[in-house]
Amino acid sequence: MSEQPLSILISGAGVAGASLALLLARQPGFKMQPIITLIERSSVPRTTGQSLDIRGPAVDMIKKLGWEQEVKSRHTTEKGLAMLNGKGKTVAYFPASGDAKAQSATSEYEILRGELTEMLLNGVDESKEKGAKVQVVYGETIQGMEDRADGTGVDVHFARGKLEDQKYDVVVAADGIGSPTRGFIFGKDDMSAHTHPSGLYLGFYSIPRIPGDDQLWHWATFPPGLAIHLRPHRNGKTMGVYLSLCNAKKERNPDLEAIVHADVATQKQYLRQRFQSSVCTWQVKRFLDGLDAADDFYMTHWCQVRTPQWARGRCVTLGDAAFATMGIGTSLAMAGAYCIAGELSKITSSDQVPQALQSYESVYRPFVETKNMDFPLGPQIANPQSAWGNWIFHTILWLLGTLRVQALASWAFGGDDSGGWKLPEYGW
Ligand SMILES: Cc1cc2nc3c(=O)[nH]c(=O)nc-3n(C[C@H](O)[C@H](O)[C@H](O)COP(=O)(O)OP(=O)(O)OC[C@H]3O[C@@H](n4cnc5c(N)ncnc54)[C@H](O)[C@@H]3O)c2cc1C
Repeated sequence: MSEQPLSILISGAGVAGASLALLLARQPGFKMQPIITLIERSSVPRTTGQSLDIRGPAVDMIKKLGWEQEVKSRHTTEKGLAMLNGKGKTVAYFPASGDAKAQSATSEYEILRGELTEMLLNGVDESKEKGAKVQVVYGETIQGMEDRADGTGVDVHFARGKLEDQKYDVVVAADGIGSPTRGFIFGKDDMSAHTHPSGLYLGFYSIPRIPGDDQLWHWATFPPGLAIHLRPHRNGKTMGVYLSLCNAKKERNPDLEAIVHADVATQKQYLRQRFQSSVCTWQVKRFLDGLDAADDFYMTHWCQVRTPQWARGRCVTLGDAAFATMGIGTSLAMAGAYCIAGELSKITSSDQVPQALQSYESVYRPFVETKNMDFPLGPQIANPQSAWGNWIFHTILWLLGTLRVQALASWAFGGDDSGGWKLPEYGW
């Protein structure tokens, strides 16, 4: 590695940003010396969230990091998916497949978002202790940025004064679906034009585990378009709950958009009112009592991001900011981080940055496009609006579960089939 520095700013310390910071900090085969700044808007690490799946090429990535056993040891302990009706009666069952190459709805690498993010950020800290030039700055965001006219870098202005304004060789937008940095790179109009609503709104939180809870993902659907999910945590003390509301169409619901952007107390109050007056009788009181008490509640509208371009000059998008995809978004974020790090590792001078970022896009986009087309199991199919639709949905699932059509479960949840695409080899 030459001592010539390559300054890299990453905005967003979620799975995408932390994965990239880690891969860069480990400096696998780098020709230049990466100097990494990872900024996060939140004043503390955002290590909350429920289950995430690691699938397809992201499995190969964690193997390359030497983390396969560590990730498996943090498995949520979930053993399969039981579909329920609104009374809590099981109508279909899909066990975990036990096969990392053909995973079922329950991934062989099912891990809590908090645990994965923490592992990645701890890995960054360990690399720093070993001499990597990396800093993680919480409570900071980009206020604006512009390319230097001579093409030698990007001048970045910070909003909160924790960092001095400065020039970077590379800027990476890894700040999620609503990525403000993506707006700075491609223009504000880009944001709404390329964010596609699914019509599915979700609130996630943890509640205490009680006797009778098992190791299955329980998923109850009931009209009109409502669902409750209950999923195990490996700590044996808590369970994850998801309350979801789905529109009849893949479009934004003005009332719910207002709720998603409201404060947490308003969000909780809205969900309580919708679910306590629903037809569901399965443990609703427990879930709503837990909702009031939860300190890790998070609500979102599950959108898909499809942008025509990821790289422009020295700037690039990664993870949900570039290609948010239901079911496999975390895996796409991790494998994308690997490709950016790999392409940057090959360059010998800062002038080659734009070319490296274009290479990332050329190498990785063909794979992402096979996964990021549309939601495979449309939220509208999986969250019927009528009692009749719900009955049909459950009957089909019962048939598939009885016939043990595992391939369908794997496909519907994002799939492991990489269609022959493999992680590029960068010699590390
Ligand atoms: C708190 C939280 C909980 C989640 N829980 C779940 C879950 O339970 N199940 C699930 O499937 N998915 C969940 N997700 C989404 C999931 O983590 C991502 O879809 C996926 O892992 C891809 O990650 P990402 O890093 O691209 O995006 P994200 O995970 O959204 O991370 C983006 C990061 O950027 C930060 N950020 C945003 N704006 C700025 C800014 N202007 N400047 C600097 N930083 C900024 C955010 O605070 C966040 O830390 C959650 C996301 C968050 C933020």
